[in-house]
Amino acid sequence: MPFRLILIGPPGVGKGTQAALLEEHLKVKPLSSGVIFRQEIEADTDLGQLAKSYIDRGELVPNGVTIQMMIKRLRSDDVRRNGFVLDGFPRTVRQAEALDVELQNEQVVLDRVILLSVSDEVVVRRLAGRMGCTKCGEIYHSTNKPPAREGLCDKCNSQLLVRKDDNPETIRERLRIFREETAPVAEYYRAQGLLKDVDAAGDAVDVYALCTEGLVS
Ligand code: AMP
Repeated sequence: MPFRLILIGPPGVGKGTQAALLEEHLKVKPLSSGVIFRQEIEADTDLGQLAKSYIDRGELVPNGVTIQMMIKRLRSDDVRRNGFVLDGFPRTVRQAEALDVELQNEQVVLDRVILLSVSDEVVVRRLAGRMGCTKCGEIYHSTNKPPAREGLCDKCNSQLLVRKDDNPETIRERLRIFREETAPVAEYYRAQGLLKDVDAAGDAVDVYALCTEGLVS
């Protein structure tokens, strides 16, 4: 049975890492709005150019274009067949409402929404030193998870880059927006009885065990 999951949490909490583990073990398709935006920027599309101006400042890309982009992905055959883990979407209550309408139309339900939490201190520590693959999105860290060859992805050999929005000033802005815009999304799902709170301070494998507790028998 395909799982349909959502990961919510501040930047640097480990959503991408958990999405990759969920893909590996549950065969769900990871859909990261941030990764998709960065691919659009890389390809220099109109959407990429629009998104870049917001992303570089740590602000949210407007709801309309974000919702449209994610719904298009949710309708792909692969996602319909294998389920999904959403990482970074929905980030506003409006996005969550639009997603609900889409899931109703598709006649599917969410299995679980996971809220990953850590202190701001841990966020800043994890983001300083984070690097991502420009092609496959694999995440590395200069001390916690260094690549085998400096600056190159272990998986696909492409170049690793430090994200432009992983600087202290933009991180502060992203944390502020998380509290104001995205924390209410967690409460929206809590009210629906779908939310699981997970302490994400431990290492990735332990956090994964907490995320999937009771989900797979
Ligand atoms: P992330 O990779 O999830 O940290 O996202 C990077 C940036 O992309 C965010 O700081 C936002 O500028 C933008 N972004 C990603 N997802 C969304 C979303 N659901 N709504 C609006 N903006 C988003």
